[in-house]
Amino acid sequence: MIPSAFDYVAPATLDEAVALLGAHGGEAKVLSGGQSLIPMLKLRLASPPVLVDINRIPGLDYVEERDGALRIGALAREADLERSAAVRARYPILLDTARVIADPLVRNSATVCGNVAHGDPGNDHPATMIALDASFVARGPRGTRTIPAREFFLGLFATALAPDEIVTEVVVPAPPPRSGGAYLKLERKVGDYATAAVAAQVTLDEHGGCVRAGIALTNVGPTPIHARSAEQFLLHKPLDAGTVAQAAHLAAAAAEPVEDRRGSAEYKRDVVRVLAARALRIAARRAQGLDTNGSSNGRG
Ligand SMILES: Cc1cc2nc3c(=O)[nH]c(=O)nc-3n(C[C@H](O)[C@H](O)[C@H](O)COP(=O)(O)OP(=O)(O)OC[C@H]3O[C@@H](n4cnc5c(N)ncnc54)[C@H](O)[C@@H]3O)c2cc1C
Repeated sequence: MIPSAFDYVAPATLDEAVALLGAHGGEAKVLSGGQSLIPMLKLRLASPPVLVDINRIPGLDYVEERDGALRIGALAREADLERSAAVRARYPILLDTARVIADPLVRNSATVCGNVAHGDPGNDHPATMIALDASFVARGPRGTRTIPAREFFLGLFATALAPDEIVTEVVVPAPPPRSGGAYLKLERKVGDYATAAVAAQVTLDEHGGCVRAGIALTNVGPTPIHARSAEQFLLHKPLDAGTVAQAAHLAAAAAEPVEDRRGSAEYKRDVVRVLAARALRIAARRAQGLDTNGSSNGRG
């Protein structure tokens, strides 16, 4: 289908972009990778009067470690994550996630910030960012604020972002020593959104006890789901088979799946249980310096 008519502006600075969003009273839309927005326009699921294209704003395409965190700028593409030496070395869960998003063509355009800003429960980065306890820097007419990922996703395509704000950066705190994570996704075919997926990030003490855990679920509810009970259960325990199995049950219990063409609610809940156990096992191995190649999903 053909989108309804819209105006197109391509500001050269963030200030200009924010001013344009404000001037249109929340009706304008940011255009970054366009991999979700353009299909929505064509299907007329969105008909904004104005698109504010941020692609010509210089200096936003970075993936870099600075001040104790990995920082991902608004114009960093999924493919940039895959190429980043820092991500490959220290954030295998992010590499797992980027590698299972769509296909290489989409990943060359789609941005990480757009992936979270979109608020689609089928998108893969939101759960990973919750597991990593990341936060999102938002710039608007009232200035800049930082929103924790764990407070960002409010409902189906609804986030804490105001219509006149731009996500300028994702901030992922550097994991402490003995940390590891994994993202596992079941998809019907390569390029599909998840039937269900699980992000797990753990930190172990020198005896193998779990001192920190982050677990979140993709596409089994109206928002990404933060599996808090499963995280709590892991604390101060070694990640042995029994503990992992019980945490996986708790993660499955936190899911809110509904039946659709990807399967029944019961099936999806069990997929969460299986993937959570596998993701926790891989995360624990990575925390011990084993299994660091970042290809848990068999892709890439
Ligand atoms: C065939 C196909 C398969 C896909 N499969 C997957 C998949 O398996 N997993 C997955 O996670 N995603 C998938 N996607 C979605 C893709 O990753 C999207 O690109 C991504 O969700 C949005 O990023 P974008 O940069 O393209 O944003 P856009 O499409 O440009 O924008 C999406 C929305 O976010 C807003 N927005 C974008 N950037 C910002 C910003 N910096 N600040 C504020 N608001 C912003 C826009 O206004 C718009 O409402 C798929 C897309 C396609 C076309």
